[in-house]
Amino acid sequence: LVSRKKKSEDTVVEINGEKIGTGTPSFVFGPCAVESYTQVAEVAAAIQSKGLKLIRGGAYKPRTSPYDFQGLGLEGLKILKQISQEYGLAVVSEIVTPSHLDEALDYVDVVQVGARNMQNFELLKAVGSINKPVLLKRGIAATLDEFIHAAEYIMSQGNDQIILCERGIRTYERATRNTLDISAVPILKQETHLPVFVDVTHSTGRRDILLPAAKAAIAIGADGVMAEVHPDPAVALSDAAQQMNLQQFDEFYNSLQKFMKTHEVH
Ligand code: PEP
Ligand code: MN
Repeated sequence: LVSRKKKSEDTVVEINGEKIGTGTPSFVFGPCAVESYTQVAEVAAAIQSKGLKLIRGGAYKPRTSPYDFQGLGLEGLKILKQISQEYGLAVVSEIVTPSHLDEALDYVDVVQVGARNMQNFELLKAVGSINKPVLLKRGIAATLDEFIHAAEYIMSQGNDQIILCERGIRTYERATRNTLDISAVPILKQETHLPVFVDVTHSTGRRDILLPAAKAAIAIGADGVMAEVHPDPAVALSDAAQQMNLQQFDEFYNSLQKFMKTHEVH
């Protein structure tokens, strides 16, 4: 169902008036995790001031260690909902288990399935039965074929509003947190009719190369870019080393806009 052979036109996912998959890159910015109302509000104000329509933030955080911050859970979703109403932004947030899904639908506009859950088949089937868009991240060591099959699980249940997101894969290279597989973008766009995003934060894990990675994503045909922004990354409860502060975000976004103008990406 996700194959180009089944449907030759691009799937366009519409969220909050934003049409994703039409060739104009979309942007999803926001903190790694929801930590407090004011933390998210500061980022939301910066996003809104750029005329953007989407915000991200994790309420359920899949952490490597059980002793690390696990997210605010439902309280986090409630903060996101309030922000959404106050700033007119659609919320993208990760859900990690089918048992949280029903409740979460009252609070989120786009359900994110994280890299660690790309082959959680019961979760994939569950998000396949909702009528909200799903942002599906590539698994940490997933082949593109496995990634495409994960999207197929979702669509097999009737939900065709799917955005694929390349977020880097595990390789032997340690200079970056993961290896950004930039060629995944045109391959996924050839093989499927779905929009494809690139998460420059989790793929590189390096603030100093977020901008060139985002330029590469846009140049190679990505439908959108995701990156993490926090008012004070140094004290962030997760991913402190790689989130942009508000000034870095401003410079990042302005440089990207300039790049898009120069290269006639509209
Ligand atoms: C995230 O986007 O918050 C996240 C945890 O990313 P990933 O699932 O790609 O590691
Ligand atoms: Mn993160």
